Amino acid sequence: MLKWNDIITFTKNGNPSPDRRVVKTDGEWREQLTAEEYRITRQKGTERAFSHESCNLFEPGIYRCICCDTLLFNTTEKFDSGTGWPSFTQPIQTNAIAYNSDGTHGMSRVETVCNTCDAHLGHVFPDGPAPSGLRYCINGVALKKQKTEADSQTSLETATFGGGCFWCTEAIFQQVQGVEKVESGYSGGKKLNPSYHEVCSGTTGHAEAVQIAFNPDEISYRDMLRIHLSTHDPTTLNRQGADTGTQYRSVIFTHDDEQKKIAQEVVEELSDSFDNKIVTEVAAFEKFYKAEDKHQNYYRDNSNQGYCQAVIDPKLEKFRKLFKEKMKVERMKAAV
Ligand SMILES: [Zn+2]
Repeated sequence: MLKWNDIITFTKNGNPSPDRRVVKTDGEWREQLTAEEYRITRQKGTERAFSHESCNLFEPGIYRCICCDTLLFNTTEKFDSGTGWPSFTQPIQTNAIAYNSDGTHGMSRVETVCNTCDAHLGHVFPDGPAPSGLRYCINGVALKKQKTEADSQTSLETATFGGGCFWCTEAIFQQVQGVEKVESGYSGGKKLNPSYHEVCSGTTGHAEAVQIAFNPDEISYRDMLRIHLSTHDPTTLNRQGADTGTQYRSVIFTHDDEQKKIAQEVVEELSDSFDNKIVTEVAAFEKFYKAEDKHQNYYRDNSNQGYCQAVIDPKLEKFRKLFKEKMKVERMKAAV
């Protein structure tokens, strides 16, 4: 992992070049690039803050240099810096990027350029998040986003749900047939990059939530919603069992109008199955912040712990009873 000291060293001595170099004339670059791409990458320009869509996009993928296609960044290293420019904590490879000291605009900064074609990308600062402590502040225009192979094979759909403690919701959806990935995190609040501690204080506006990538050929969004609403209590406002506060609210964060419509229909459909009124909030999805590593796969890693046995096991039991045919394990057994 690169640290600030490495950057300083590379700024003085140069970062070893990659095997391939791309050199073109100014005329060739002008022909290949749009005016804005040319201005930023070949004339060291800067795009307007918050002007590029990729500063708010965190879908999985990789980023290549807009000029020469060299792999530069992975979205796993992308974070929300709040600056208005796509921000990363590490390049994809140590020598993907070269560094130049930049004293323009009365500042002392370190410029980042593509180490293959010298395209200006942006700057790097020593104020990023741990563990690298680096913030690569990059012009979105200088990058080309590409889905990774795994992502492009099937087009997965995203669902984001809150149903109280995310350890529970995560454990349930990990067992659903057609679910490819579940992440525990926070959604629906205003604070950037909130911590578990901050969300638990109930003051950030976020709900504990899970973000699920599922294959719509294997399970419909409608069935995902039926599972969600049937495996927590959607009738208690800002509370699940002993957990109280808005961070435990029952909520469906919808990613488009179609999801919104289906969510409203399923809430209506299930309203007779409960003694009390369903209070689940249906809200437009804005952002999801993945929670700290220790909260991922919590049930899988801690299934002998008291909370898991007392609270999560009964919920899983209920899920298994209600949705036998939607379970990964059951389906596998049936196939044997
Ligand atoms: Zn390049």
